[in-house]
Amino acid sequence: QIEAIISRIDRIRLRQDQLVSVDSSSPDIRILTKAMRFMFTRETRLTPVVDHKSHIGYNFPVISDHYDQTNLKEMFQLFETATEKEYFRSRFVDKLHVCSSCYSSFLNFRETCPKCESADLVTENLIHHFVCAYVGPEHDFLSGDYLVCPKCNRMLRHIGVDYDKPSLIYNCKNCSHVFQEPVMEAFCFVCKKNNSIDSLIDVPIYSYELTPIGEETAQNGPSRDVAEDVSIPGFITATTFNIFLKYEIERAKTSKESAAGSLVIRLSPRTRENMGSNYNRMMLEIADFVKNATLSTDILSLVNSNTFLFISPETNRERLDGLINQIKGSVIKLLESSLPGIDIEISVQTVTIDGSLPQNDVLTQLIGSGR
Ligand SMILES: [Zn+2]
Ligand SMILES: [Zn+2]
Ligand SMILES: [Zn+2]
Repeated sequence: QIEAIISRIDRIRLRQDQLVSVDSSSPDIRILTKAMRFMFTRETRLTPVVDHKSHIGYNFPVISDHYDQTNLKEMFQLFETATEKEYFRSRFVDKLHVCSSCYSSFLNFRETCPKCESADLVTENLIHHFVCAYVGPEHDFLSGDYLVCPKCNRMLRHIGVDYDKPSLIYNCKNCSHVFQEPVMEAFCFVCKKNNSIDSLIDVPIYSYELTPIGEETAQNGPSRDVAEDVSIPGFITATTFNIFLKYEIERAKTSKESAAGSLVIRLSPRTRENMGSNYNRMMLEIADFVKNATLSTDILSLVNSNTFLFISPETNRERLDGLINQIKGSVIKLLESSLPGIDIEISVQTVTIDGSLPQNDVLTQLIGSGR
């Protein structure tokens, strides 16, 4: 068993060696990178754990500790961004109803009086006597151990046969109001707000796994636009790219096929560290080169710090494959002349978009098979 543990640790170490150091002033990027690296090195999903000490009742390993319990909204926004960018794929776990002002799920649901809002209510059955059609509260019928109708004086015998209890009535002990429909509210133990039921916020809880883009990004770092929309002219963000890709897959089902491709640039973690800020400069130069080498109709995105994705609408795969390989050759030449002896690995993948493959499979073919 010890051997199993050691081999597991070795496996984690091996994966840790593939990580490039990510330096960012954005807390979102740092937290997201940490979570993705946890998932990547442990080869595990990010799964929420039930925890009564958390304001939402769930704790996300690695991530939750970075967020103030009273501001968990930001954490959910991070999950949303990571899912939109296709770093994460989500699976439903639970659905919460949380306080509209502080996102806590530590709530007391209670019935209150529609007149004075007190929760000090007592309930009683309403009785309907079929024979004489009288309807009244149960205490009017009580006569010793029996139920006797106050209107016709007959004894009630079998529920469902000569009488029934159609509903409850509420008595407010504070203002003596009698009513049938109480007002439901949810009191928040954290911020003390009385929430109306309609105002509670629905929050779905998911567990997450890394997609192929997520695995690549875990190792090489997210693009800068995760937190701020830093855009490179001619390039669209990862989120927009994924929307385009979905649209293109749908369109290709009934119309001409298209092609998608990837160009993934991999340096060893050490080389990348030695380059420091020159790395970003190099990527921008390559981006510029990519833009000039492609057609204006091609859709381009730099989805993380080292992966270019392409969609060529209504083009066959061979053209795109030839084009990206040509770019690869030129980029290698360019780098070798300015950084002699650089150890760089560039992989190119292309795939036909004809509507037969769903988006996940297209992305897996473009990025997942590179390693
Ligand atoms: Zn009342
Ligand atoms: Zn009666
Ligand atoms: Zn609250």
